[in-house]
Amino acid sequence: MGFGKKENLDESRRCPQCAQPVCLKGCPLGIDIPGFIRLLREDDTAAALERIRRENPFPAICGRICPAPCEPACIFYEDGTPIAIRDLERYAADFGRGKLQKEKNAPADKGKKVAIIGAGPSGMAAAWYLARAGYGVTLFEAMHEPGGLLRYGVPEFRLPQKILDEYTMELKGMGVRIETNILAGGTEPVLDILGRGYAAMLLTVGAGVPDLTDFPGHNLGGVYYAEEFLMRAQSGAKAKVLETGRDLMLGAQTAVLGFGPSALDAARLAVRLGQQVDLIFGGPEEELGVHADDLKAAVEEGVKVHAPVKPLGIEPDARGFAGAVACRRLEMVEQDGKLSLQPVADGEILIEAQTVILSHGRRPNPFLRRGLPQLQYNDNGTLWVDAQTGLTNLENIFAAGNAVTGAGPVVDAIAGGKAAAKKIMEFLS
Ligand SMILES: Cc1cc2nc3c(=O)[nH]c(=O)nc-3n(C[C@H](O)[C@H](O)[C@H](O)COP(=O)(O)OP(=O)(O)OC[C@H]3O[C@@H](n4cnc5c(N)ncnc54)[C@H](O)[C@@H]3O)c2cc1C
Ligand code: SF4
Repeated sequence: MGFGKKENLDESRRCPQCAQPVCLKGCPLGIDIPGFIRLLREDDTAAALERIRRENPFPAICGRICPAPCEPACIFYEDGTPIAIRDLERYAADFGRGKLQKEKNAPADKGKKVAIIGAGPSGMAAAWYLARAGYGVTLFEAMHEPGGLLRYGVPEFRLPQKILDEYTMELKGMGVRIETNILAGGTEPVLDILGRGYAAMLLTVGAGVPDLTDFPGHNLGGVYYAEEFLMRAQSGAKAKVLETGRDLMLGAQTAVLGFGPSALDAARLAVRLGQQVDLIFGGPEEELGVHADDLKAAVEEGVKVHAPVKPLGIEPDARGFAGAVACRRLEMVEQDGKLSLQPVADGEILIEAQTVILSHGRRPNPFLRRGLPQLQYNDNGTLWVDAQTGLTNLENIFAAGNAVTGAGPVVDAIAGGKAAAKKIMEFLS
């Protein structure tokens, strides 16, 4: 649930408007945080939204799912009461939207076209900045709809698809063309797309492939990767899955092993499918890599968090399906002045689970390695780019987003797309 008017006013008035605001340093997009909060306390939501959108084209997304690295930077963080910047951003996005003035003047046409491969948040952000500056932009997307992992990974209850639809419509209104069901390097060679009259190309193909694991028992029936589980539940079969859970062959008890928003989203979706859910993480709870509010919501909904508890392996049932997860409890111990996690004596436990969901991270799709073998990669599989120019090793071809940084938060993907758009403009001018 987002803030109402009273919560917005109370929270924005709590902001001390520091003379040297440290929260600014926490936001990868460089949003003027005290500035938009000041406008919110004056109840001018449209002006607050306009202020945010100078730096972030998609505040309704970040206002819901950003891990909010700005909040730990707030001076009240140490007291456990940081200003709820993410909630305030969401409030401005949701309530300022209808009041925003439409841009009156279309930008002067620069007469140059840019092709963007991959319509996730990074590609969409780059498209927004390029179109606003007068470049002709086409987004090429392998899936049937734009949005990237936000469309087919993040569940509806955290990010309504309607928000992605609205930002897509806005891009189209700005003249951005969107070609879906085009797999660059598959349905059409990458360089052929560039040859369709584009002066530059940006690769924002993401890091959407789950990190496969040789965790003991990973190949038993009833074991899924979080991205697979979420994608299937978000697909056309969603209604059926929600109604019956049958497509996913779920048992009554689900264990989610891992960390990050994918793990938490899978756990919360499993609860909505009627499962009893245990989330098992081998580190301290604070290192789960999720926003504290999201973790609180998950626990309130019924997700039972076990941390620090190290999963050791999935035990089969008599039919060769998952039956239980063997785990060991850990505790923080000080040794030679250093804190480390150590096994608890007699801490072996067995958590029953007929469905096990693994969430150990994501990596870039290696597909372009075949479609464009000349591209240079880093050792970890991410695309290599020149830090100064944003160019890959190929002429006129840039890259940004999770494809370059590896799996990371949406705010970094948007910031990457925005920075790449700037570099492309410098290159083309
Ligand atoms: C379940 C889940 C939950 C998440 N929750 C959060 C969260 O709460 N907070 C947060 O900050 N982040 C979250 N994330 C991460 C967030 O989704 C990513 O940071 C973000 O989507 C990355 O954006 P991107 O544009 O770089 O890549 P992507 O979103 O992966 O988009 C890349 C796009 O490129 C397309 N593509 C790939 N190859 C080709 C090709 N050859 N031709 C054409 N198109 C191609 C793909 O289909 C995709 O649409 C979550 C991720 C998942 C999976
Ligand atoms: S985009 Fe994220 S980091 Fe930036 S102000 Fe919003 S919540 Fe904070």
